Amino acid sequence: MKQLYATWRMSYIEAPKPKSGGCIFCDFPAEHRDEQHFILHRGKTCFVIMNLYPYTAGHVMVIPFRHTNVYESLTDEEALEMHQLTSHVVTVLKRVMRPDGFNMGINLGEPAGAGVAGHLHRHIVPRWAGDNNFMPVLADTRVLSDAVENTYRRLRGAWDIHDEK
Ligand SMILES: [Zn+2]
Repeated sequence: MKQLYATWRMSYIEAPKPKSGGCIFCDFPAEHRDEQHFILHRGKTCFVIMNLYPYTAGHVMVIPFRHTNVYESLTDEEALEMHQLTSHVVTVLKRVMRPDGFNMGINLGEPAGAGVAGHLHRHIVPRWAGDNNFMPVLADTRVLSDAVENTYRRLRGAWDIHDEK
């Protein structure tokens, strides 16, 4: 298998470990270094962040600030904002990256595939026709057409533009 080099992955591996007992989804927003952590937006109860291990370019997550992995504990306010931010992410991704489709969902608990099992997060993954053809299944050999940094800047640049409905 070919060796692939991705600078964004290296910088992630070299990043410091989480401070507060291991929850990056609590630590990253608390540090207020949004650009460094690729935080796209802060809402009242939830924030939006780029996935550092993206499945495709433009893989974004919507996450409540509150540390919980109990989905049914989400308040109406949290659930509504999660939906509203998801909807806005889809709008921005459509505008900037013109995907052919999306996967979106929440993996609850480690057996379900949650990478950060203690703090629930909704994945939004844009998909393109044929994207499996050039992306191997193994995470560490994935070829991405765009680095996370570049995608972050493009999505942030388009975040506040509202389409006429
Ligand atoms: Zn947390």
